[in-house]
Amino acid sequence: MSDESTIKLDIDGAAEFLNLPPSKIKKLLSKRRILQNWGKYQHLFRFDKKVSKIDSGTVLYQNNEYFELIRGFPKIKRAMAVEPAVKSHFSDIDTVAVEEKMNGYNVRVASIDGNVTAFTRSGIVCPYSTERAKYLIGHDFFNDYPELVLYGEMVGPDNPYVPKNIYNIESLDFFIFDIRYKNTGKPLPVHERRKLIDKYGFRQVKLFGEYRIDNAPEKIIEIIKKIGKQEHEGVVIKDPHMQINAIKYTSSESNCADLREGFKFYNDFGRDYFFSRVIRESFQSVEWGENEEDFQKRCLQLGRSILEPMSRTIKKVSEGKEIHEDVHIRVSEPETIYEFERHLKRMGIDAIFGTPQQTENMYLVKIRKLNQSTNDKTKAIWNGSLWKS
Ligand code: ATP
Ligand code: MG
Repeated sequence: MSDESTIKLDIDGAAEFLNLPPSKIKKLLSKRRILQNWGKYQHLFRFDKKVSKIDSGTVLYQNNEYFELIRGFPKIKRAMAVEPAVKSHFSDIDTVAVEEKMNGYNVRVASIDGNVTAFTRSGIVCPYSTERAKYLIGHDFFNDYPELVLYGEMVGPDNPYVPKNIYNIESLDFFIFDIRYKNTGKPLPVHERRKLIDKYGFRQVKLFGEYRIDNAPEKIIEIIKKIGKQEHEGVVIKDPHMQINAIKYTSSESNCADLREGFKFYNDFGRDYFFSRVIRESFQSVEWGENEEDFQKRCLQLGRSILEPMSRTIKKVSEGKEIHEDVHIRVSEPETIYEFERHLKRMGIDAIFGTPQQTENMYLVKIRKLNQSTNDKTKAIWNGSLWKS
């Protein structure tokens, strides 16, 4: 199918549905704040930025003559110091539910015109995630609940975005952490959501427990220290009724793993990515009242996570080699490979696909992602180019 979009948004209908003036919709379209998916998904429009109460990544489409919204996943703010953050953020409630924060990529799965469809954070349909969601979730749930959207993390080694081997997952699994209604985005309360997921036999993030606010911080720090040892990422702290926004808190080990990954491709990652991760380490160290020995360990670990990957990158480039990131996907339909290749290209990701290898009923495809900006920058500096200040 060609990339040319032939479907246009019904501006008056959308304006009425969203309760916005048609001129505003026109403006959002012309400023490219509302964008369109590609090919067979071009009838799915997406909000690129937050617009009044509509989160970025929200998807808007017409289901027969009706409009529907699949809300973007809300931003989760971070606790830098656990105790004061939990006590002040949740001061109006008695308990919090603490769930594991898994490290993969965010996917929303919904049924659209009877088809199971998976979106990544920005509201773009990902062909690989869609194929996997069809296999992992299927139709039964949506036959019963067409009005619900499943929000979760795609986790595991067969992962083109965030491959991780730390969870003992063979290929790729979908761990649900939220269920919301289409249109309003209203979430199900934690326990109701967990029961429903169990009923359908889907996987879900671990619930460590529900704790009273006064002892939750101590419990959370205990959990973080324990799961950090396995490089697990952290926790998301939630109001069991899902009326107050969730907050997140992460382990030093996963923080340093992020830094190692980021500094390998230091010119491809944004500066905020590095800055916030360094700040986190200092607050954690002081809040935990670390002794000198643990503090020294943290210093070494933090420094190493920054310098080692960068030095390796520079060395490689200085030897005339290119740096890249190797990932892989495992699909059952050869068509998905082709669609996913086009998908990455449209997203501006430079990648080379290897020849598919057939294993049982699946195809394993190796993908080499090129991080051109870091390659170019390093080469230039190595050849005498100056940094701007
Ligand atoms: P943002 O802060 O905008 O949500 P980010 O990628 O910077 O995005 P992260 O630090 O990864 O954010 O934390 C938020 C993400 O954590 C969510 O978007 C979701 O994909 C993921 N996540 C993993 N486990 C959970 C969970 N149990 N509950 C909620 N979110 C979870
Ligand atoms: Mg994440």
